[in-house]
Amino acid sequence: MYLYNSATHKKEEFQTHTPNRVEMYTCGPTVYHFAHIGNLRSYIMEDVLEKFLRYEGYDVNRVMNITDVGHLASDADTGEDKMLKGAKRENKSVMDIAKFYTDAFFDDCAKLNIKTPDVVQPATGLIDEFIRVVSALLDKGYAYVAGGNVYFDTSTLGRYYVFNDHDEEDLAVGVREGVEEDQNKRNKNDFVLWFTKSKFEDQALKWNSPWGVGYPGWHIECSCISMKFNGEYLDLHCGGVDNAFPHHTNEIAQSEAYLGHPWCAQWFHVHHLNTNSGKMSKSKGEFLTVSLLEEKGYDPLAYRFFCLQSHYRKGLVFSWENLDNAAGAYSKLIKRVAALKDGDGEVDREAAVQLKEKFLTQVGNDLNTSMGVTCLYDVLKAPVNDATKRAVLADFDRVLSLSLLDKAAELREKEAAQAKTASASGGFTIQGEGDPAIDALVLRRSEAKKAKNFAEADRIRDELKARGVEVTDVPGGAVWKRV
Ligand SMILES: [Zn+2]
Repeated sequence: MYLYNSATHKKEEFQTHTPNRVEMYTCGPTVYHFAHIGNLRSYIMEDVLEKFLRYEGYDVNRVMNITDVGHLASDADTGEDKMLKGAKRENKSVMDIAKFYTDAFFDDCAKLNIKTPDVVQPATGLIDEFIRVVSALLDKGYAYVAGGNVYFDTSTLGRYYVFNDHDEEDLAVGVREGVEEDQNKRNKNDFVLWFTKSKFEDQALKWNSPWGVGYPGWHIECSCISMKFNGEYLDLHCGGVDNAFPHHTNEIAQSEAYLGHPWCAQWFHVHHLNTNSGKMSKSKGEFLTVSLLEEKGYDPLAYRFFCLQSHYRKGLVFSWENLDNAAGAYSKLIKRVAALKDGDGEVDREAAVQLKEKFLTQVGNDLNTSMGVTCLYDVLKAPVNDATKRAVLADFDRVLSLSLLDKAAELREKEAAQAKTASASGGFTIQGEGDPAIDALVLRRSEAKKAKNFAEADRIRDELKARGVEVTDVPGGAVWKRV
């Protein structure tokens, strides 16, 4: 596939260090609150990327951290401990908070059909490893101790990488605007590897270390967890674009200093979900969660569909109206899939291969998911039998994960049950050949006629005709037969 690499600012042919094997790392959630749907946009797009690579035949090892310690309120090294803030708010211990919101995160992921990574590592489970790497960075002269903390010395690097075309000084000042500079730092971009002293003294979780009792800086966990579970050469690192600087920048600095060679070849950054008033965040405006979408009656997969309709490198504007449009389109798509006949002959292998080739090319062009969705409609329109359509849709859904066939089966069952109820209530009797899907269509046609929606009634009659079914209206019901 071709993928835009934010490290080189170019779309490149995807390559791996070991043939057919992808070492993939994803920055996981900080578990002090629910994830908002803007965070989940990143995880949805990363999920599609992982599934597409598997679909192409790669063996993928995907690793994710869970930040359950010492992540600060801002990306700079000062501020409040987010975990402690969550614990105080809910009157629970920090580890209870972490467990609760880790579970909540994976519940949300399950509802959105996001696969759990192969390795999920909470930061608190690997403190000894962080201490080992920080010690090595000190030994190699890449770090220094000042004022009780261990800092990474960015002046030791040939280049401190910042991911974009801005002057790194400008960017650093911009990000740190309003943040009081830490006087212990030798260079503006230096960052903390291990804290024993910070602006907040009431950090809840602390460990012994050669530099005193304290806790790790945020950036070190991703470097260590990736190097431990992905090995020394990372093929693909994913995250939201807001993590690019300083978090990913600092991950590169530490990892390459520690390893002594280039670390990650390919960087994948998903852009923001915006509201009309700007970037969605936990700290301002409406806090949109998967549960809230469900409370309002949306299928979480309608949100996944909404995300797939746009490109990951563009900001996406969320509004209820936009979500309604996506939800409407998703439910129409499911209806069309539900209307496909079961057991309609053999799968046309040749046609299936052709459709698949197009899908591979389209989605393989920098993860163009909206073209992937278009491919679904192309399948529905293709001059092939329904068995082929169902087989190809199921195949594409290994990547898009919209539960197309399951949702279609649910819909057919629901409609059959409705037809049965209506029939049992005596309001409408259907005599046919005992096919619930056809009964459901016949009932829908009668309801459309009752509502004087003759266009819809005619459309359903034509659909039945196309399936070789003839309907005759009789008093109090309808009779159908295959002709
Ligand atoms: Zn990270």
